Amino acid sequence: MKTEYTFCRICECLCGLKVTLDGNRVVKIEPDREHVATEGHACVKGLKQHRIYESPDRLRHPLKREGSEFRRISWEQALGEIGGKVRALRAAHGPDSIGMYVGTATGFDMLHPAFAQGFMTGIGTKQMYSPHTQDCANKFAVAHHLYGFPFTQPFPDIANTKFLVIVGGNPAISKFSFLQLPHPMKKLKAVVERGGRVIFIDPRRTESARMAGEHVFIRPDTDVFFYLSFLREIFARDAIDREKTAAFMEGLDRLRGIAEPWTPDRTAEVTGIPSGTLRDIVSGYLAADGSALYSSTGVNMGRNGALAFWLQEVINAITGNLDRFGGTLVGRGIVPFEQIGRKRGLLLRKDRSRIGGLASVSDCFPGGVLADEILTPGPGQLRALFCTGGNPLNTMANSARISGAFKKLDLLVSVDIFLNETASLAHYVLPVTPFFEMAGIPFIFPIFCGLQHRPYLQATRAVLKPDGEQRHPMEVYTALARACGAPLFGSRAVQAVMDLNMKALRSKLFSGIALTPERMLGLILRSGGQPGFRKLLRHPHGMLRPPHQEGSFLGKRVVTENGKVNLAPGHFIERTASLDGVYADELKNRGMLKLITKRAVRTHNSWMHNLEEFVAGDNNTNYLYMHPADAENAGLAEGEYADVSSATGTVRVPVRFLEELMPGTVALPHGWGHQPARGLSVAAATHGVNVNILAADGPRNLDPLSGMAHLTGIPVTVKPAEGPHDPTSWSGISETK
Ligand code: SF4
Repeated sequence: MKTEYTFCRICECLCGLKVTLDGNRVVKIEPDREHVATEGHACVKGLKQHRIYESPDRLRHPLKREGSEFRRISWEQALGEIGGKVRALRAAHGPDSIGMYVGTATGFDMLHPAFAQGFMTGIGTKQMYSPHTQDCANKFAVAHHLYGFPFTQPFPDIANTKFLVIVGGNPAISKFSFLQLPHPMKKLKAVVERGGRVIFIDPRRTESARMAGEHVFIRPDTDVFFYLSFLREIFARDAIDREKTAAFMEGLDRLRGIAEPWTPDRTAEVTGIPSGTLRDIVSGYLAADGSALYSSTGVNMGRNGALAFWLQEVINAITGNLDRFGGTLVGRGIVPFEQIGRKRGLLLRKDRSRIGGLASVSDCFPGGVLADEILTPGPGQLRALFCTGGNPLNTMANSARISGAFKKLDLLVSVDIFLNETASLAHYVLPVTPFFEMAGIPFIFPIFCGLQHRPYLQATRAVLKPDGEQRHPMEVYTALARACGAPLFGSRAVQAVMDLNMKALRSKLFSGIALTPERMLGLILRSGGQPGFRKLLRHPHGMLRPPHQEGSFLGKRVVTENGKVNLAPGHFIERTASLDGVYADELKNRGMLKLITKRAVRTHNSWMHNLEEFVAGDNNTNYLYMHPADAENAGLAEGEYADVSSATGTVRVPVRFLEELMPGTVALPHGWGHQPARGLSVAAATHGVNVNILAADGPRNLDPLSGMAHLTGIPVTVKPAEGPHDPTSWSGISETK
């Protein structure tokens, strides 16, 4: 038996882990209680992840689909055939006929997204997609225009705040996003214990709201009106930090006018937040010595997630809470990423999608136009797609339409660890190494953007060796680039060096001098003046970096044209004109049910449902959660099946009562509907439905400021199911299978 220290790369917490190994097998995972920053935090997903790796379903060899069957083939054959098809498509239809979807799993590694992008740069395509427009592109779009760079993301200083408002977030289950904060509930309870206030604004009295602080209901997808009234109160009370705004910001005068019409009494009609409650929240926020507004996916995934987040950032900024202890801080990465990005145009592409003319955000087009890009003929029509570390069929809006579009592709290649729903439609499936089989350092957010409550560095070697023909993503994309005649990063020199390197890695004689992933990561670290990989390995519990500082951002690291925070980007101001119509719709639809999501601690978008103990018994499906009064109105008893319909589709699920929901709100957990997956034997046998069947795609259904799909607050009708349900279908209804 041997012990290794590593860290989890499933979510942003990056929990330090102590792993017990028996040969090339993990027998036990425990939290690393000596870790300098994650302090012994870990959840059940991280502690059971080795069971996923051990699954007989794991991809261990390249596969080729022939009809409806998959056949094992060699890497050489896979690369040769894919290369031939890509060369032909590129020659006949141009580089934009080839695209890539870069999934979340890649984001927790440095080299996977870098080499995948390098391959696409070599192809010369702009057709890049990511999950951002499902859950967070609104934040990138706002940061781009306010601070000059999309990855500049202020975060609440929870260690020092006296007043924290969390809108649409549930840290007890989902942790924080855009902030690495282990033990989130312990830290939120500490705010209350030291006399501060934590207020959750949410259509559900969540697990977090039950554990710490106070809770205020809000009607789903009306957050923008809450923020507008909040901003109006700031102006009405003249609670503006004039010194800071004059020195470091511009556009303040343009904000007053947009907030003015939205009195708390008026917005209460649609948000359900009484005006007195809103005024009390504003009073508390202004009175505290260090306050912060924070929001998460409940806001991001609404119709106006970009406007709502913009208003939040504006409020934190003009009240003087940006860049101060107790308010929001902007971390420093190991490199001045915002300056490098600005100089090189990284994450700042200006091109627009062929369909819908939507802006790229963080160098990716909205996933909501992907089906249209495939289905619409004309120059630049997408004909080949590489899906790397992602499962868009399960996670993107209008899954049924995406499925139909993917079937029309001339070439679909999945680079993954399982034959998931998306991979099951692929022509070729290439197995990559999962995290325990890869060396790593914390991914780009923590170490390039400083989004860590306590800045630190860590390095881990691969804990396991691949148990089949899985290859490291660096190797996969170097080989694909060569096979497709598209040199990595568009450079023949880089391709030649990497080709030689790959040969060296596989040779006994030269492997000692080859550029291994560890050495590559060491170069990244040293480019930021940090200790190299080997030195970090001597600190298995992590190594602290200098702590965050207040006053280190404004006037110093804002990278807009004039170095000032742009409080009022023109197109954001213009977009507020649409809110009268949104408000009128909300009034009209007050009697309708609205659908939100609800995450469980044991679920993860694609993998965790393939673990028997996570889906045993009653846990083998998702449920439609309803307030008992709403269920009674709909004529539904607990346990009965309901048909849930939106403008896009219908799913059939059993009902569970949940009194903690705001009446008028129903909740359906996402990440289910694995029935079409050919290689998730446990998950495919579960009965849950794919909630994204109910969400609309297409350019007219996306937020024009950010390209975000509308995945929460969807108006739905719920009625007793008619006819038998089909648990083998991802909708629960046989005809849409
Ligand atoms: S919270 Fe869980 S899934 Fe996230 S990093 Fe920690 S152990 Fe992994």
